[in-house]
Amino acid sequence: MEKLYKSTRGHQQPLDFYTSILQGIANDGGLLVPAFPFEKKDLNALLDLNYVDLATEVIGSFVPEDAKEDIRRCAQGAYDSGLFKEGVVPVVKAGNEYVMELFQGPTAAFKDLALSILPRFMTLSLKKKGENREVMILAATSGDTGKAALEGFKDVEGTCIKVFYPIDGVSAIQKQQMITTTGSNVEIIGIEGNFDDAQTAVKKAFGSAELKALCDQHDVFLSSANSINIGRLIPQIVYYFHAYLSLVKRGDLKMGDEVNFTVPSGNFGDCLAGWIAKNMGVPVHKFIVASNKNKILTDFFTTGVYDTHREFYKTNAPAMDILVSSNLERLVWFMVDGDSEKVDAFYHELNTSGEYKVDADTLARIQKEFTAGYQSEEEVLANIKDCYEKNHYVLDTHTACGYGVYQNYVKETGDTTPNILLSTASPYKFPESVYEALTGEKVDVYTAIEKLHAFTGVEIPYPLKGIKDREILHKGVIKRDDILKTIGDRIKEL
Ligand SMILES: *Cc1c(COP(=O)(O)O)cnc(C)c1O
Repeated sequence: MEKLYKSTRGHQQPLDFYTSILQGIANDGGLLVPAFPFEKKDLNALLDLNYVDLATEVIGSFVPEDAKEDIRRCAQGAYDSGLFKEGVVPVVKAGNEYVMELFQGPTAAFKDLALSILPRFMTLSLKKKGENREVMILAATSGDTGKAALEGFKDVEGTCIKVFYPIDGVSAIQKQQMITTTGSNVEIIGIEGNFDDAQTAVKKAFGSAELKALCDQHDVFLSSANSINIGRLIPQIVYYFHAYLSLVKRGDLKMGDEVNFTVPSGNFGDCLAGWIAKNMGVPVHKFIVASNKNKILTDFFTTGVYDTHREFYKTNAPAMDILVSSNLERLVWFMVDGDSEKVDAFYHELNTSGEYKVDADTLARIQKEFTAGYQSEEEVLANIKDCYEKNHYVLDTHTACGYGVYQNYVKETGDTTPNILLSTASPYKFPESVYEALTGEKVDVYTAIEKLHAFTGVEIPYPLKGIKDREILHKGVIKRDDILKTIGDRIKEL
């Protein structure tokens, strides 16, 4: 069976894997989803695989039959590169729950798991399609996608990358990481606006006839490094298998036992990948979706209404400061059995009125598998302190949202299913907040790194060592309304 991808909104001819990677988003504004059923995996056969082999098997379910060896090379290049810690994703115990440490890679954020392999998919796809045009990668970032994408794409032949970040909407460390990136094909541009402004403009760029004409003139095409690209989603499925199998292997779970996953969420790509893993055979009872004060997902999972009429808050967990959660569209598509007319109607409604509501049956289906909650900034700080005092484990601010939401879930339900908390970033990416949480003391960002290290003994991730003294290479800032024009200008320069 050929593995094709179609649009959630139904107006795009199905595409093969390579074209889906290159195109990034469906041309009708929808997101690409597999048009084929998920392949059930035999967990016993995967039990003894290392991360690269596991990735090859899992990702192999989404690509053409003859691509497996290519995928293995991609996985080796990404995960055997020496840029990740031994084992790639350690699963550690903190008190009575498990923490999946997704931040042990080249930029100290979970985005590394997907963005270290996406550029390899991109190069493979360019070759398979005999594509000679240059690809301009666009990324909007709430802090972590930007740096992970920059590291992934820098100096990759045939590509250039433009990252847009909200100047006041990312942490000091995230910003420093991005604006000091080296590489001849990278550019980082600050915008006066928030993440949603950046993401909306970048999505618009893909549908712009004007930019399309410019691209044709200059022999270039656009693609996306955001989780709207199916090539971001697929590699994230792997670590759900990995975490489950790790616990089986060490005897903490019996094969077939159910687990819960608690997922700090924004654009919802991470959690959706988990749901796909469940459909491929990982035994999951519930997904616990955690938000910060921007609790649009909590409200959606509770009421079935996705309502963007609300204030946008800048919080101490900035990578989740999002009101337009792209991947939810994919979940909704799955939950209405791929009825793209329905999804098209929902998103038309969202674009015109700023909200949509799923019907009661769909909501009931969603609530069978997902539950959701949020944490205020004060709760985030209290959670970091609580987890450290009880378990001697240091959480970052995003993972601390998950920690608190999970505790509340247990209090409300009494559910004793083992929980795996996804840790999405190193605490050293948000050191001022984490240090303040632990000691009550407010210090500047670089002092906080040193003091946090002295206080906890937790190793500073190698990508963040010496970051203070790196040369600033990218200073550009534009108005939020100028994003499309700027993209146009950059195309003309090629
Ligand atoms: C991106 C990010 C998230 C949210 O992940 P989504 O896949 O967008 O839901 C959570 N925490 C951190 C630290 C992130 O960088």
